[in-house]
Amino acid sequence: MSSVNIPEIFGSMVFDDRVMRARLSDEVYNSLKRTIDENVKLDINVADAVAEEMKNWAMENGATHFTHWFQPLTGVTAEKHDSFITPSKDGGILMEFSGKELIKGEPDASSFPSGGLRATFEARGYTAWDPTSYAFIKDHTLCIPTAFCSFSGEALDKKTPLLRSMQAINRQAMRILKVFGTDAKYVKTSVGAEQEYFLIDKEVFSKRPDLKYTGRTLFGAMPPKGQEMDDHYFGVIKPRVAEFMEDLNQELWKLGILAKTEHNEVAPAQHELAPIYATTNVATDGNQLTMEIMKKVADRHGMVCLLHEKPFAGVNGSGKHNNWSIGTDTGINLLSPGKTPYENAQFLLFLCAVIQAVDDYQDLLRLSVATAGNDHRLGANEAPPAIISVFLGDELTAILDAIKNDAPYQGKEDVKIKLGVHALPRFSRDTTDRNRTSPFAFTGNKFEFRSLGSANSIACCNIMLNAAVAESLRQYADELENSENFEADLHNLIKRVIKEHERILFDGNGYGEEWVKEATEVRGLSNLKTTADAMPRLLDQKNIDMLMRHKVFTEAEIHSRCEIMLENYVKTVNIEGLTMVDMVRKNYLPAIERYLYRLSQTTVLMRQVSPNVKCNYEVTTMERLADLTDYILEAVIGLEDALTDFKKQENVFSSSEFVRDVMLPRMDVLRKYVDEAEMLTSQRDWPFPSYGQLLFSVN
Ligand code: ADP
Ligand code: MG
Repeated sequence: MSSVNIPEIFGSMVFDDRVMRARLSDEVYNSLKRTIDENVKLDINVADAVAEEMKNWAMENGATHFTHWFQPLTGVTAEKHDSFITPSKDGGILMEFSGKELIKGEPDASSFPSGGLRATFEARGYTAWDPTSYAFIKDHTLCIPTAFCSFSGEALDKKTPLLRSMQAINRQAMRILKVFGTDAKYVKTSVGAEQEYFLIDKEVFSKRPDLKYTGRTLFGAMPPKGQEMDDHYFGVIKPRVAEFMEDLNQELWKLGILAKTEHNEVAPAQHELAPIYATTNVATDGNQLTMEIMKKVADRHGMVCLLHEKPFAGVNGSGKHNNWSIGTDTGINLLSPGKTPYENAQFLLFLCAVIQAVDDYQDLLRLSVATAGNDHRLGANEAPPAIISVFLGDELTAILDAIKNDAPYQGKEDVKIKLGVHALPRFSRDTTDRNRTSPFAFTGNKFEFRSLGSANSIACCNIMLNAAVAESLRQYADELENSENFEADLHNLIKRVIKEHERILFDGNGYGEEWVKEATEVRGLSNLKTTADAMPRLLDQKNIDMLMRHKVFTEAEIHSRCEIMLENYVKTVNIEGLTMVDMVRKNYLPAIERYLYRLSQTTVLMRQVSPNVKCNYEVTTMERLADLTDYILEAVIGLEDALTDFKKQENVFSSSEFVRDVMLPRMDVLRKYVDEAEMLTSQRDWPFPSYGQLLFSVN
C-alpha cells in the first residue's frame, strides 16, 4: 500500500475546529464555540453562516448530499440523504443548504422503534443538530450528527439522553469543584472505547446462513486447534489483516478518529482496535462510525467483520472496554491523584462518587450492556462476570482502608491519614496488578468498564454511568455546600462512603464460584445473568427517580426503552430459533441422511463381497447417527413448538422470560446433537463450513 501523509489526511473529512476557525468569521466562530463549550443557545443567523460554509467545504471535498446522522434505539446509525440541489427560478439549479436545514430535519420516524412513545405522543419525529460533535463527509455525503426526538420532545435516540447525562454530571461536578475552590468553566467526561472484532473470509462466511442471518454460528463442533496455544494473542498480524488495518486506520483518520493501537486478540481471527479517548459524545459517534467502517473496509478486502459478542461457541467472544474519566476545561483529570494533598482529597471524593455510583446502580450498569449477544459472554469464563464490582488495586485499597479505620497508612510514607486535607499523603498511580476479571477497574487515572459487548453502543453505559456519578456528587454537594468545618466534614464524608460501599470493592478472582457465592450471599450484590433478568430493573422506582431527578430521561422514555431493549432481545433469539429450524430441516438432517445411506450401502456391499468383514466403523457410526437423527428430530420439534408458543405470550416481559427459560435451553439441546453428528459425518456430506474452516479462513 502506498505511503500516506498522516497529518495531511487526519481529519480531512471533518468540519472540525481547524476548518471552522479558518472558514468562519470571528464573530460566527466565537458564537458557535460558546454553543459548543458552554451550551449557549445557537442563533439562527449563526446557523445560516455555518451552514453556508459547511456546504462549500463539503462540496469542495466531493460531497453532493447531506444527511442528519443519528442513533436510533435500534443500535445502528441512521441517515436519510438529501441533495444540496434546489431548483432555481430560471430552470437551473442552485446548491443550497440553510441554517434551518442544518439545525433541524424531519426524517420519517415511523420505522424506528419508539416503545410506544410515538403512539402516546406525536406521530412524527425530528432531528436536531448536535454542534458539539463535528460534521463529517462519508460516501460523498455531509453527515451532520444529530439528536432524534419526537415532536413532544421525547428522545427517540441514544444521543439525547447521553448529552443530558453529560450536562447532569457537569452540573453536579461544578458544585463540588466550587466547594473545593477549583477554578473551571465546565466539566466533561471522556471515553476511549477499545473494540474487539473477528475477521473471516467472505467466501466462507457466505456459506453459513446462521452467520448471515444472526451474526453468530448457531451450530459447529470445536476445531482441533482453537485458542489453547495462546499463539494468536499479540502474535504476528497476517498480511491480509495488516492491509485491512492499514486501510481501516486511514479511513478512520480521515474522519478524525484517532485509531491508535491494533493487535491480535486471544481467539484465532480476533483482533482489537483502540482509539485515543475523546469527549464522550464524540467518542460515541466515533465508535459507531468505527464499527460501520470496519465492516465496509473488511468487505473491500474480501472479508467479513463480525461484531457479534459470541460468533463462535467455545472460543473467546468480543467485548468493548469503556475507559472513562472526568476532567475540567482547564485540563485537570479529576480521577488522577494530584500533586498536592488538597488535590488528592478532591480526587478521593470523585473516586468515592464513582464507587458509590457503581454500588447504588449496579443494576443500571448491568442492564446498560444487556443484549442477547452479550448474555453469551458475561459470566462465562472469558468476560467479566455478570456481577458488577470495582477493582482499585493495592495502593488505593490500602489508602481507603487507612481512612476507614483511622489507621496509619503503610504506604511509601508511613503516616496516619486524617483527611484534614493537609495530612493526606501523596500517592502515585497504581499501575501494577491489573485484574482482568474485574468488570469495573480503576486503571491509574480512569475507570475501565469491561462488561460491554462488542456490538453495544457505548452511549447506553455512559448515560447510566454519568447519571449515577452525578447522583453521588449531588449528595456530596448538598452536604459540603453547607459545611461549617469543611475539612472535618469532608473527611467524615469520605470515611462514611467507604464504609457504606466497600461491599462493591473486590480485587480477587471474579471467575470463581466462591465469588458468586460471596457476592450474592454475603455482600448482597446483584447477579443479573440475562437480559430478561436485568432489563426490567430499569423500572425500579429508585432508578426512575434518579434518572428523572437529573433530567436524563422522562418516565415515558424509561418505559419505552425498557420495552425496546426487551423486544430486541426477544426478536434476536426468535430469529436465531427460526434459523436453526431452517438449517436442521433443510440441511443438517438431509446431510446426515445422505451419509447414513452411503454407510449402509457400503456395509451391504462389503458384506456381499466377504461375510468375514465386521464393518465395525460403518455399523457403530450408523447406529449412533441414526440415534442422533431421532434426537435431533425431537429437539427441532421442541424448538418449533417453542416458536409457536412464543407468539402466545402476552407482553414483552413474559416473552423475554419465555425466551430465557424455554427457547434458549431448547436451542442448546438441538445444537448439542447436531454438533455431535458433525463429528461423525464425513466432511464431504456436511453442508456447511466447519469452525476450523471459518476460524482459519483468513491467511
Ligand atoms: P488496555 O491495557 O486496556 O488494552 P489500551 O491502552 O489498549 O489499554 O487502551 C486504553 C484506552 O483508554 C485507550 O482508548 C485510551 O485512549 C483510553 N484512555 C487513556 N486515558 C484516558 C482517560 N483519561 N480517559 C478516558 N480514556 C482514556
Ligand atoms: Mg482495556
